[in-house]
Amino acid sequence: MKALVYHGPDNKAWEEKPKPHISQPTDAVVKIYKTTICGTDLHIMKGDVPTVTDGRILGHEGVGVIEEAGSAVTNFKKGDHVLISCITSCGKCEYCKKGMYSHCANGGWILGNTIDGTQAEYVRIPYADNSLYPIPAGADEEALVMLSDILPTGFECGVLNGQVKPGDIVAIVGSGPVGLAALLTAQFFTPAEIIMVDLDDNRLAVAKTFGANQTVNSGHGHAIEEIMRLTGNKGVDVAIEAVGIPATFELCEKIIAPGGHLANVGVHGKSVELHLETLWAQNITITTRLVDTVTTPMLLKVIQSNKLKANQLITHHFKLADIIAAYDTFKHADREKALKVIMTNE
Ligand SMILES: [Zn+2]
Ligand SMILES: [Zn+2]
Repeated sequence: MKALVYHGPDNKAWEEKPKPHISQPTDAVVKIYKTTICGTDLHIMKGDVPTVTDGRILGHEGVGVIEEAGSAVTNFKKGDHVLISCITSCGKCEYCKKGMYSHCANGGWILGNTIDGTQAEYVRIPYADNSLYPIPAGADEEALVMLSDILPTGFECGVLNGQVKPGDIVAIVGSGPVGLAALLTAQFFTPAEIIMVDLDDNRLAVAKTFGANQTVNSGHGHAIEEIMRLTGNKGVDVAIEAVGIPATFELCEKIIAPGGHLANVGVHGKSVELHLETLWAQNITITTRLVDTVTTPMLLKVIQSNKLKANQLITHHFKLADIIAAYDTFKHADREKALKVIMTNE
């Protein structure tokens, strides 16, 4: 089969690899139908994720059809259409029992990281019963690719950890796919106002069409003053950090109102300054989380009821065989006005 293979920083190839097979009775082999590229894949390509080694097939999102199910798989059979979760989980360990699938003793984020991933014609999914979700007949399968990672990530790490409530003022710093996923799902709780912050005016314009009330371009150097002005100098009840660099986290620290929640979503590679000298008496809560994908079945129902339009996040389409071009488009997201790119295995 063909697959997108990592060969060290800035070095990848669409090349021949052995087709995966069942190695444990709890495995399934899935024929990929549609997959996508994550911001995390770009981090990997820069060499920021040392657990990913030469020869690894990348990708942790996608939908497909069961090619073969191991003898212990009871939920799925050959031919079933499935959504692949970016988190693999056994469902049996201590962390899984707590709903913390991301910390599964036998899984977690391993796809396209420590085991071969979904940017390929076929993928092996361990613990298939717990790591795959059935796709209802007639569903828009392409839209469901947004459920592999970005929608549960924006919702769980941003909206739920941020405890967005009716009437809240919410700032989402970072208007990329995950920030936009937080924007879409924050609206489940009818906050009074959502302020989107980004450097890219195109993404901010998209955010307006997704329901943002205000947008702030942080590239002009006055984002804090702008947000304080928009909130009558009070700051925001919830600040969701969806970028993962010190400047954006520190921005969140500066705009959070007393009693507020600062929910980190971004993947940080550098340490961040914690300004306890100003925050110690402010009753704020700072949260961190890796997505557990425990809300995936719920989000799937909301998409199926047409109340969450996941396909708005998709801007570009490629054949799976043209994945190198798809990476180029996604890497230059500002130039290409790209959000999520979909590759179809034809
Ligand atoms: Zn991802
Ligand atoms: Zn587990």
